[in-house]
Amino acid sequence: MQPLLGRHWHHLPSEEVVQLLETDIERGLDLFEIQQRQKRFGANQLTPAEGKPLFVRFLLQFHNPLIYILLLAAAITLVLKRDWVDASIIFGVVFINAVIGTIQEARAENAIRALAQTMVTEASVLRMGKIQRIPAAQLVPGDVVILKAGDRVPADIRLARTRELQIAEAALTGESTAVHKQVEKPLAVEMELVDRNNMAYTSTLVTYGQGTGVVIATGDNTEIGRISSLIASAEGMVTPLTHKIERFSRLLLFAILGLAGITFMVGVVRGQPPVDTFTAAIALAVAAIPEGLPAALTVTLAIGVSRMARRRAIIRKLPAVETLGSVTVICSDKTGTLTQNQMTVLDVWAGGQAYQLSGVGYDPQGVLLDANGSRLASTPPAVMELFRAGALCNDSGLTHKDNQWLAEGDPTEVSLLVSARKGGLDEAHMRQETPRLDEIPFESEYQYMATLQRGEQGQYNRVYLKGALEVVLERCAFAAATDLQPYELNRDLVLAHAEALAGRGLRVLGFAYVDLPAGQERVTHADVSGGLVFLGLQAMIDPPRAEAIAAIRVSQQAGIRVKMITGDHARTALAIAQQLGLQDAAQGSDAIPVLTGRELAALTDSELIEIAQRVNVFARVTPEQKLRLVQALQARNEIVAMTGDGVNDGPALKQADIGIAMGITGTEVAKEAADMVLTDDNFATIEAAVEEGRGVFDNLTKIIAWTLPTNVGLGLIILTAVLLGVLLPILPGQVLWINMTTVVVLGLVLALEGKEADIMYRQPRKKDAPILTGGLLWRVLLVGFLILLGSFGLFEFELLRGSSIEVARSVAINTEVAIQTFYLFNTRSLSQSVFTIGLLTNRWAIAGVLVMALLQILFTYASFMNGLFQTAPIPLQSWGMIAGVALSVFLLIELEKWIVRQFKNGRSVRKVQTQLNVE
Ligand code: ATP
Repeated sequence: MQPLLGRHWHHLPSEEVVQLLETDIERGLDLFEIQQRQKRFGANQLTPAEGKPLFVRFLLQFHNPLIYILLLAAAITLVLKRDWVDASIIFGVVFINAVIGTIQEARAENAIRALAQTMVTEASVLRMGKIQRIPAAQLVPGDVVILKAGDRVPADIRLARTRELQIAEAALTGESTAVHKQVEKPLAVEMELVDRNNMAYTSTLVTYGQGTGVVIATGDNTEIGRISSLIASAEGMVTPLTHKIERFSRLLLFAILGLAGITFMVGVVRGQPPVDTFTAAIALAVAAIPEGLPAALTVTLAIGVSRMARRRAIIRKLPAVETLGSVTVICSDKTGTLTQNQMTVLDVWAGGQAYQLSGVGYDPQGVLLDANGSRLASTPPAVMELFRAGALCNDSGLTHKDNQWLAEGDPTEVSLLVSARKGGLDEAHMRQETPRLDEIPFESEYQYMATLQRGEQGQYNRVYLKGALEVVLERCAFAAATDLQPYELNRDLVLAHAEALAGRGLRVLGFAYVDLPAGQERVTHADVSGGLVFLGLQAMIDPPRAEAIAAIRVSQQAGIRVKMITGDHARTALAIAQQLGLQDAAQGSDAIPVLTGRELAALTDSELIEIAQRVNVFARVTPEQKLRLVQALQARNEIVAMTGDGVNDGPALKQADIGIAMGITGTEVAKEAADMVLTDDNFATIEAAVEEGRGVFDNLTKIIAWTLPTNVGLGLIILTAVLLGVLLPILPGQVLWINMTTVVVLGLVLALEGKEADIMYRQPRKKDAPILTGGLLWRVLLVGFLILLGSFGLFEFELLRGSSIEVARSVAINTEVAIQTFYLFNTRSLSQSVFTIGLLTNRWAIAGVLVMALLQILFTYASFMNGLFQTAPIPLQSWGMIAGVALSVFLLIELEKWIVRQFKNGRSVRKVQTQLNVE
C-alpha cells in the first residue's frame, strides 16, 4: 500500500480512496490484510496525553493560601528568631504534606482515569463480506465502517455512502450544531476541516442517519490525534464540595490572619517580648489551619468512585458522586432497565383471528395455538405473512451454539425472529429470497421501522412496516383477511383487542405492508404515510426485573420518588408499573395514574410543573419531552436523576442533575452526555449508586466533623494562653506534628468507613444544605472546647506539680491526640451510638489507632524527637490522667448523641401524636 499520510482524502473521489487503500467497499478487508495492517499501523488508540509533570503537580500543592501563611511563618521564624529547628519543622511538615497530597491526588486521578478506559467504544465494520461489531481499537486503514445514529465515529473516515447522515463535530471543531454529510464530488484541497462534508472524524458523534466509509487514518494520525491538547484537559478533581471547602479556606485565611494579629497585639500591649508574642501568633495560625483536610476529601471521593464502580455504576463526572446522595426523583426508562428486556411473543392477531404461541425465551421450540389453546395443523397464510413481516423488517440475529440460543440486537426484534421460527419460517432463507433494498431505521420519534424487500416475482417491491400499534394503524386503510385478501380496516376492533393485551403488560407491535413498483428501490417516510394494508399484531411479554422491584421499594423508603418514562403504550406501562410496585407510593387523592406524551404535549410549562410531581408513569413519551419533564421537576427543586440510551436523550441527560446512560444498549451519544453509566443497564444499580453516594457524603461530613475540632481546640489553647499571659502549652512545630499525623493516620480511616444501616431510611440530603449543620457545628465547638479544657488543664497541672515545661507540653500534646483518637470512634456515626454500630467494626480504625500510638510513643520517648520537637518523656501516672480525660470526652459525646436522639425521637413521637389527634 502507498503512504497514507499527507493525502487530501476529501479531495479524492471515493472510488480512488478505495483503490489507494486497496480495499473493497462491498466486502471490506480480508483476514490476512487486517493482520498485516494491524502490525503496520498499531492499535487505533490515541497515545494518552501526558498530564502535568509530577514536579508541577508537586509545586501546585503549595498553591494554597493556607500554605502561604505557613511558609511565611517559617520564613519569619527564621529571620526574627534565627530558630532553625522550628523553621525547618514547619518547612518539613509543609513539604511532607505536599508529598502526601501529590501521591494521593495522583492515585485518585489514576483510579478515575482507569475507570473511564474500561468503557470501550465499539464499531460496526464490514470484513470478509460480513458486518461485525469490534472494539474500535482494532480498526485499520482500509476498513469499511458503517456509521449509524448514536455512534461515535471510531476513526477518520472518507465517506462513500450516506443516508441523511448528520454528525456533531463539537469534539473537533467546537461547533455544536450537527453537520450534514454527503458524498458529493471531491472537495477543493484547501477546504477547511469544518466544511469537509464527505469526511467523518474520530470522536465526533453521529446524531442522525447512516453512512458507510473507508478508514483513512487511525490512532495518533487522526485529526483529533494531532490536536492532542484537546485530550490532555482531563477534568480535575473538583466537585461542589471541594469548591466550597476552597472558599471556606480562603475565608478562614482572613479569620486566622485577623486572630493572629490580635494575638500579637494583645501580647505587645501586655508588654511581653515581641518574639514570644510572635511565636504565639504563628502557633495560632498553624493550629487553626486544617492542612490535611483537602487531600483527605479528595481521597474520600476517589474511594466513593471505585466503590460505585464495583457496584457497576461508572462515574463520568466527579460531582455526580456528591449529587447522587441528594437525588429526590429517579426517572427511569422501562424497557431493559426496569424490565428484563427478554421479550417473548405470546399473543398474535392476524386476519381477524387471535392466536397464541407456546414456549418462553429465545428458544424457538414452540407452536402456534388457536385462541382456545389447541394446536393448529398448519399456519394460516395471514399469520405467515405477519411473521414474514416481523422477520424481514428486522435487524437482529439468532444463532444456536453450544446448545444455547444466542441473540444479537434489539430483544424486541429477536422475539419476532423466534415467533417466525415457531411458525416454520427461517429468516436467513427469506432474507436471501427477498433481499432488502432499503430501509427506514427505527427512531423513537417515529416509533416505526420499515424495510423495502425485493418482490419474489420481480413485479413489485414490498415495504414491510412495524411499530407502535397506533402509529401503524394510522397509516393503514385496509386489513389482510385470513387468506390475505385486503378488506376495509376496522381500527376500533383492532385497538380494543390490543388494549386488552396491553392491560396484561404486553408490548404490542403492529405490522403492515405496501407494494411499490418494481423499479423503485428506495423507501421514504412519504411512501409509508398512508394506504397500507394492516397485517396484524404480535404481543410480547417483558417481565419486570425482580431486583428492580426491591430497589424501587428501597428508593421509596429513602424518600426518593421513582417515575417510569417509556415509549411504550400507556396500558402496558401501567400494568408493568403495578407489577413493579411503582404505584404504591402514589395513592394520594390527587395522583394521576398515567400521562401520555400526547397529553403532555398539550400542557403548558406551568401546567406541567403543577402535574409532573403527581404522575409516576409517563407513556409514549418522546425523548424531547423528557427534557421538558426534567425541567418541570427541577422547577419544584427536585434533584432529578434521568436515564436514557438514545441519540435524542442527550439534552435530557445533560439537563438532569444526574444523567444516567445505559452501558450495554446505550448509544455513544447518550454516554457522552451522561454523568454516570450503568454497566448492566439495571435500575437496581442506580439505587446502589445513590446508596454509595449517600455513604460518600456521610464520610466526607464525618471527616470534616472530626478534623475541625483539632483546629478549634488548638487555636483556643493558644489564644487562651496569650490572653492569660501564661506559657504556651503547645509550640508551633508541635501543633504541626499533631495536625499532620492525626489527619493522615486517623482521619483518613473515616473515608473507609462502611455505610450506616439506616442510610436508605433517611430523607435525601438537601443539595444546598450546609455541611456543618447547627448540630454539627455545636459538636465541633464542644469537642474543641473539651480539648482546650483537657490539654490546658493537664498542662497547668503538670507545671503546678513541678514538672518541667517540656514534660508539661508533652502531656498537653498527648492529651490532645488521645482525645482525637477517642473522638474518632464517636465520629464513626454522627448520630447513632458507636456501640450500636459496633465499636471495633472498622479494621482501619484499629490499625490507625495502633500506628498513632506508636508515633506518639516515639514523639514522647525517642531522644531525636525530643530534640527536634522539644518534648520529653512523661511518667506513667500522667498517661493514666490522659486516658481518663480522653475517655471522659468520649463518654460525654456519646451522652450528647444520646440526648439528641431522645430529643429527636420525642419530636417525631409528638408529631405522630398531633397527627393522630387531628385525625
Ligand atoms: P423505554 O421504556 O426504554 O422508553 P421503549 O422501547 O418502550 O423503551 P422506544 O424504544 O422509544 O421505547 O419505543 C417506543 C415504541 O416503539 C415501542 O413501544 C414499540 O411499540 C415501538 N418499537 C420499539 N422498538 C421497535 C423496533 N425495533 N421496531 C419497530 N417498532 C419498535
